[in-house]
Amino acid sequence: MVDCGFTLKETLKRLERLEVAPNELDALLVTHEHQDHISGIGPLSRKFDIPVWSTRGSLLSGKCGKLERFSIIEGFREFQIADLKVVPISVPHDAREPCQYMFEVAGKRLAILTDLGSYTPEIIATLSTCDGLLLECNHDEEMLWQGPYPRSLKQRVGGPLGHMSNRQAIELLKSVMSDRLKLLIASHISEQNNCPDLVQTSVAESIGWSKEEVIIAQQNEGFGWFTLD
Ligand SMILES: [Zn+2]
Ligand SMILES: [Zn+2]
Repeated sequence: MVDCGFTLKETLKRLERLEVAPNELDALLVTHEHQDHISGIGPLSRKFDIPVWSTRGSLLSGKCGKLERFSIIEGFREFQIADLKVVPISVPHDAREPCQYMFEVAGKRLAILTDLGSYTPEIIATLSTCDGLLLECNHDEEMLWQGPYPRSLKQRVGGPLGHMSNRQAIELLKSVMSDRLKLLIASHISEQNNCPDLVQTSVAESIGWSKEEVIIAQQNEGFGWFTLD
């Protein structure tokens, strides 16, 4: 499981919906120490004795509390969890040593990038080889700047260490598109500064997919299982 920003109760409810028992989880991987990603990691790890993987920066934030079982991701070097190869990806985001992930199993690759204010040549190179992608489409720039957030927060969200706008996500997608990419999930969508329909329409149009092919990760419902084959 990558990140957990929910209470234990809510996490168990969501796992049940996916028909996963918590003791089936092999590991918890942390992307960074912002509350919406980390607040449930400690309780879930302690309750079910699940090992946590995190960068030193995320761990030093202290937001996981005391952990019995954890491993440090050193220097963004890849590692293995059961049959899954995990490739850490360094991202520009205003946290301590934030880390997103690419996973590979049986030759299929899935990358997850939930929080990044901009993208780097390394990110483009990694994403170009993926069969599936979960990508942040946080805000529409117009809606953010016209919206109710205080000015300082607008600058943070819209800055190079904040969050990806729809425009940035589309630019990134255009530079990583390949025949290999079969699954695209738009995620970390702001309820205040974006609209799922706008994300689906603009992303699909820019990469020549149908609107329905662009999956939306809803904050409340999430999404079900997908298979890469
Ligand atoms: Zn964040
Ligand atoms: Zn976040």
